[in-house]
Formats: sequence, C-alpha cells, structure tokens
Amino acid sequence: MRFTSKFIYPYLLILLWSIFYIPKTSAQEGPSPKLIVGVVIDQMRADYLYRYQNRYGEDGFKRLLREGFNFKNTNVNYIPSETAPGHASIYTGTTPSYHGIIGNSWYDRETKAVIGNVSDDQEYIVGSVVENPYGASPKKLLTSTITDELKQASNFKSKVISVSIKDRGAILPGGKAADAAYWHDWESSPGYFVSSSFYMKNIPDWVTKFNSEEKSDAYLNETWNTLYPIETYNASAPDNNAFEPSLSGKTSPTFPYDFKTMRAEARTKGTEFQLLWVSPKGNTLLTEFAITALQEEKLGKDEITDFLSISYSVPDVIGHTFGPQSVEMEDIYLRLDQDIATLLNALDTNVGKDNYTLFLTSDHGAIQNVSFLKENKLDAAIARTIGDARELEAFLDTKYGDGSWVSTVNGNNLYLNRTTIDEKN
Ligand SMILES: [Zn+2]
Repeated sequence: MRFTSKFIYPYLLILLWSIFYIPKTSAQEGPSPKLIVGVVIDQMRADYLYRYQNRYGEDGFKRLLREGFNFKNTNVNYIPSETAPGHASIYTGTTPSYHGIIGNSWYDRETKAVIGNVSDDQEYIVGSVVENPYGASPKKLLTSTITDELKQASNFKSKVISVSIKDRGAILPGGKAADAAYWHDWESSPGYFVSSSFYMKNIPDWVTKFNSEEKSDAYLNETWNTLYPIETYNASAPDNNAFEPSLSGKTSPTFPYDFKTMRAEARTKGTEFQLLWVSPKGNTLLTEFAITALQEEKLGKDEITDFLSISYSVPDVIGHTFGPQSVEMEDIYLRLDQDIATLLNALDTNVGKDNYTLFLTSDHGAIQNVSFLKENKLDAAIARTIGDARELEAFLDTKYGDGSWVSTVNGNNLYLNRTTIDEKN
C-alpha cells in the first residue's frame, strides 16, 4: 500500500491533526475511491494517539498511523473551538465568520433569541417514538461542505450518509445535500437513531429495524468495567480522586459503572437513555449503526464515489465529565480503538481494502483539569466568565444615560443593544 497525495484536501490545514488512511495506489488519472469515510472523534487531543498507544491493538489507531499519513502541522485558527464550529470547519474548509456556525449557540439579532447551531422550528424529528417539537437542519451553514461539493461533482449521484451520537455531529458534516443525517435520540425515544424532516418524511425500514433491536436498552443493562486490571492504568490519575464528579446514582467517581442501577435513577429525571453518552457502548452502538448504514445503503458499491461521515461524541462527554487525566478517558480510548478496528474491518470486507479513503480527525481538543494542574503545582486558574452584564449596564447608564444597553450574554459573547446605541447617539 502506497500513499498518494492526490486526496489530501488543503482545507484540512485548519485542524489540530488528521490521519489519512489512503490505501489506494492510483496513478494521476486513476479511479476515484468508491467511498470516502470521514471520522471525527469529538474532543480527541492529538496526544491521545501516543499516550495510550502501548495498549492500542494493531488494527485500530495504530493501523492508521502505520498505513496512513499523519498530518501534524495543523492549527485551529478561530474561536470558539467547540463542537459545532469544529465540525463545520472540518467539512467546509473555512472559518466560522464564513461558514456561519459561530458557536454551539449564539444570539440572533433578528429574532432576539439565543439559537442552537442546528435548531430549526420549520422542521421536525423523524423516527422518534413520542412527538418531539424540536426540529433540526443544516440551514444555518452559509457555505458548502465537501459532501455538498461531492454531490454536485457527481450530478447528485453520490450517496452521502452522516451519523453521530450528537445531532450537530451528523447534520453539519452532511451539509445541505446529504441523503440523510442520523443521530441518537435520548429525549423522545428509547435511544433510537432519528433524522429530520429536512431529509425525509419517513425513516427508512433499515433504520426502523435497527431501532427495533433495542440496542440502547440492552447496552444500558451492562456494567462498565475497565478493559484491563485497573491497577495497570498508568497513563491516568488514580481512579478515585477529588477532580472528578460522581455520576448520579453513584457515590464515587470510580469503576465499575453499573448502568442497570444508574438508569433507574436517571429514568425519574427523563435522562435514562442519555446515560449511553457516558458509556463506551455509545461508541460501539454508533459503529454498529454506521456499518449497518454502509451495508443497507450500499455505499461504495459502484464507481460513483459515496461519502460516509461518522462523528463519535462519547469521548467529548467523557472528557467534560471526568477530564483528560481520568481512568475513564483512558479506558474509553482503549475501547474506541477496538471500535475503530471493527469499522476498518467492515470497510475492508464491504467496500474492499483498496477502494476507500478515510480520514480521522477531531473537532477540538481539551485543556487539562484545572484543579488537577493546581494540585501538581502548575499555574492554572479558571478565567472569570462574563456571567451577567449588570456592572456594564450600570457603567453605561452613568456615562450615556439610562437605557437597555446589553441585549444578552451568551457563552463568553456580549451582545450590545444596537437600538439603544443609535438612540443615545
Ligand atoms: Zn466537540
């Protein structure tokens, strides 16, 4: 297997790092790949490739490093480095000021409301069990994605399927011309994969069949133990430490995670199936769904290049919950490595070893846990966030006269009231 550079898209320069697995040995005018697979691992830092590497298997991350090309000279040239801007930047090849996904949420001056990156009240969820008024679409994207461009280049004959646990992880990579985007719904179904009326009126039979197997339910009856004896997790802080919270239904931030017990408590809060987002089985479930999509949609079966986008969200939720120093994180990556191996094996079998091009990258990284750093005498602090704008309002009232000066504070963005500014001249 030789590496050829013809498929390296320069727009990926903006990323933290990327691995391109390009088994194709085509000459300059050789055939196009039958399938392109884009894998995003939410919040994966580049150092996780090496930090846990001695216990990765040969067929997952290490296969990509061994047989592919590791593109390291990369930077994120925008803020905020969040999930929605990250996925949009990867797939559009440009920055938030151009592609329009400027945060996970932002203040919309026209409607005077804070809106989500894929929220859309003109659409509805397809495939949920109870009616879900929340609609979603990629309409806030202002530029085309690589998947949109592939569609146009093939006169819309290419098939584009995008899957994730998070809605944004599926919708933004698919662009506007995707055949379908599917994500994991914990609010209005028992952990089914759902889609949006933006793409379809009815969920396909194969998705209904996959959902009817009730895999989310089955996985939440399992207990999460470490893959190897816990005393061998040398890349992480001790499992029981002061930096990590105890999940609801537990009294310590430690293994094992008995989801069968934890889900009973979560059920009373309506968050039962969201528990899969902090389970390694969330990655396994998504891998199984992606492989089913590959087979049922017959991706990569003819000469017209198709695109399968997969975004693994669980590592991000684990990172936010436990931090990069946690045994939970280490174990998630050791197990995700196995899921990646399963995915690559399925691609070899279903599409053919030399017929697909795969890239693996991340939407953003993560900082180390601040308390953990301080405990180890390193300089760290949590920056003051804006919170509210009362002090600023009072200051502007004094200086320019009483008025409603601030429209809203969202995230770390301050939105001034332009009407008041005009009125007060
Ligand atoms: Zn993310």
